[in-house]
Amino acid sequence: MMTEFIRDHGSNHKEVRLPHGQLHVFANDEVFSALDHKVYQMADNNLRIPRNVYMSYTPDAHVGIGTCIGTTAVWDLKDGFVSPSIVGSDIGCGMRVHLTPLRKEDIQDKQLRREIIEAIERYVPTNERASSQYKDIRLEDVVTEGLYGLPKRYVPDAYTPKKTRSFTHVEHAKFSFNTDYLDEIPDKMWARAWGQLGTLGGGNHFIEIQSVIIQEENRHIAEKWGLFDGQVVVMIHSGSRAWGGMLGPRYTRDFKKAMELWGVGTPDPNLVYAPINTEQGQRYLNLMYSALNYAVTNRHMIAYGVREGLKDVFGSEFEMPVLYDLMHNYALKEPHRNRGMLVHRKGTTRALPPGHPLNSPAYKETGHPALIPGSMGTSSYIMVGKKEGEKNFYSICHGAGRVRSRRATKETVTVDQFSQSLKVGTEDEILVNQRTLASILDECPQAYKDVDQIIDSVVGANLASVVAQCRPMAVVKG
Ligand code: 5GP
Ligand code: MN
Ligand code: MN
Repeated sequence: MMTEFIRDHGSNHKEVRLPHGQLHVFANDEVFSALDHKVYQMADNNLRIPRNVYMSYTPDAHVGIGTCIGTTAVWDLKDGFVSPSIVGSDIGCGMRVHLTPLRKEDIQDKQLRREIIEAIERYVPTNERASSQYKDIRLEDVVTEGLYGLPKRYVPDAYTPKKTRSFTHVEHAKFSFNTDYLDEIPDKMWARAWGQLGTLGGGNHFIEIQSVIIQEENRHIAEKWGLFDGQVVVMIHSGSRAWGGMLGPRYTRDFKKAMELWGVGTPDPNLVYAPINTEQGQRYLNLMYSALNYAVTNRHMIAYGVREGLKDVFGSEFEMPVLYDLMHNYALKEPHRNRGMLVHRKGTTRALPPGHPLNSPAYKETGHPALIPGSMGTSSYIMVGKKEGEKNFYSICHGAGRVRSRRATKETVTVDQFSQSLKVGTEDEILVNQRTLASILDECPQAYKDVDQIIDSVVGANLASVVAQCRPMAVVKG
């Protein structure tokens, strides 16, 4: 495929001309040169969708289904398009971090860390077939009301110092939508999703116990957020389970049929799209919101379970306030350039700068924490957006991004190498819940890009800066 490098804007911002339009790439030279023709082919397929306003890759970009993970793609709400392929299959998948009063030294003891893992697993089912422990929660309330749909006993004062924290320290506590569309949802989907609330889900979903290193230049922000050096924090990665998982394929089929009817071809059967202002577009967008409501509530309930576990270990007064919860698979209506736009973020994180009006109230002044996982053997990061991030619609990376497929990882990385990267056998061993490392070899650090190169790319592009580095101490994988 013809790719022509048009301009280097400097500061890790490149612009590439593809046959069907322009792609912005935010990456340092090392990360940029490792992007292969497949990711450009995918961008070009996506650029065939008419009237695209903007498309970019963050440095974690890698091949996905229909659209690369790491894509930000924007259309005008008036005449634009929505694409389930550019939202991603795990709708509303995202990150959550909770603060604890613990210090690294408090949990250095390996036996204690093992106890912590076991305690968490008592309350948060990690087995793919395990069933929700919250049979008293009505799924209809969750998908229509988000966090507001939870019975009071599961809400804020249970594990946060301030009553309102669960609603103010999240990117979105609730999306409103036309609930008539819920009538289309089959009983099977209601039943499966209800049975999964508060469960982690497999693959790269995780609960991680980490220790914090504050970045000097942003110490004042870290302090305002309640972070301190050596602090233990809990990072959670999960999504909308079967609710979003079943919506995706269902409406991809719906879009495919419509595209055939309209005579719109697609270069990739996994890439589907429809005008926002059609029955198909509206149906998908409205039901997507229900999945975003499910996802934030699911992470909230996972965190609730983690706190129940930590109370068993550290006593019933244990407090674990949420720092922030945000998503990296969605399409949101946002005002940009004085117009209403639909911003798709598939594997990208919104990072709003200080003072931006879309910030949740708690973070208006500082900008909100942008939570960036690395891998179970490397650092993760807590960042904050910069106003220069406007050039990328305030999107930054959502992680390190895969560098090898699951299969290729299993073929090229040995269990020994994996074990070394977790410092197995030493005092600093990163403990894992799984019985054998072989069973999660496809999740080893070597499966992912070098997160420090990814963070360097984003910082160098002036999109965000680092507030804290978080080192893994214990990991619960799904
Ligand atoms: P995704 O949302 O695309 O499924 O994955 C998000 C990112 O999470 C990956 O790109 C990777 O950088 C990160 N990640 C995957 N597994 C782990 C883990 O066990 N611990 C941490 N800290 N990060 C992980
Ligand atoms: Mn996910
Ligand atoms: Mn995810």
